[in-house]
Amino acid sequence: MHILDFTKEELEDIIVKKYQEKKFRAKQICDWLYKKRVNRFDDFKNLPKTLVEKLKNNFLLYTFEILSKQKSKLDATVRYNFKTKDGYFIPTVFIPKVERNAVCISTQIGCAVKCKFCNSGRVKFVRNLTCGEIIEQILRIEEGRINGVLYMGMGEPLLNYDNVVKSLKILTDEDMVGLGRRRITVSTIGIVPNIYKLAEENLKVKLAISLHSANDEVRRKLVPNFKYSIDEILKAATFYAKKTSTVVTIEYVLIKNKNDDITAMKELIKVLKKHSEDKKVYKINLIPYNQVEKCNYEKPLDDKIGSLKNFLISNGFLTFVRKPYGLDINAACGQLGF
Ligand code: SF4
Repeated sequence: MHILDFTKEELEDIIVKKYQEKKFRAKQICDWLYKKRVNRFDDFKNLPKTLVEKLKNNFLLYTFEILSKQKSKLDATVRYNFKTKDGYFIPTVFIPKVERNAVCISTQIGCAVKCKFCNSGRVKFVRNLTCGEIIEQILRIEEGRINGVLYMGMGEPLLNYDNVVKSLKILTDEDMVGLGRRRITVSTIGIVPNIYKLAEENLKVKLAISLHSANDEVRRKLVPNFKYSIDEILKAATFYAKKTSTVVTIEYVLIKNKNDDITAMKELIKVLKKHSEDKKVYKINLIPYNQVEKCNYEKPLDDKIGSLKNFLISNGFLTFVRKPYGLDINAACGQLGF
């Protein structure tokens, strides 16, 4: 068993019922795991030796091998390539920022959605990552304290719903990782039923919708393995924003001559307004396409990106252009593949 697979309540249950120990031992274990980030049970100094032995005999602590680490010369972003116990590779990206360090984590091995512009979509879907494997990616970062987590790596988080939700509970539990809810963003291509479900979990993390077009026909070409309409997705996203009192980010990968003209922006404005008269429900992130090998898409010129941004702002939408991190090591948005 992977010890990072368990919430605090589940650990308490095991400690009390199975090991006949006091409940507070679970909190001590969490402290070693998540606050002190100690990677050997033998170093859990304030536990009785008998309990340490039980942990050693029954649990795994870390399961990944760090296959390689690449550091960007452009911005010091670090791409980790982890190898799972069953021999698969997953990418995780550490993004150093002045205001807060973030880590972009994977949730599946491969991705069945197969977005045309995304390198992860070219990796055959094998399986969901376990909750422990999702959390381990964060704990294994060696560059410093993590203040933000982005569920934006390989895989579609809401197609691995149970493990993702469990990992969110571990991240937000004060006695475990203890991250602020608003420092966590779950990005989804729009798995409608699970957006509603997530809204009801009382986790109140931030949600990002990878929309990329406000036109179903265009979107189907970019995101082929997908069944929900833009209307269904935005209805669910608006419900999420209202239920959790959060701003939903609309992510829009800008691809030259595909979805980057004023007509496309007008369609976007129209469909967003249709779902919420309050424009503050959404924030728009324009993401200039990042080059992926053997993909003949291009990013629009910078001037054009700037004018699209200004157009959206002039229509009342808070809009940003996302800076790519780790472009030279294939760590930027859409580049995470093998
Ligand atoms: S963008 Fe997300 S959903 Fe689409 S292929 Fe890449 S990882 Fe999968």
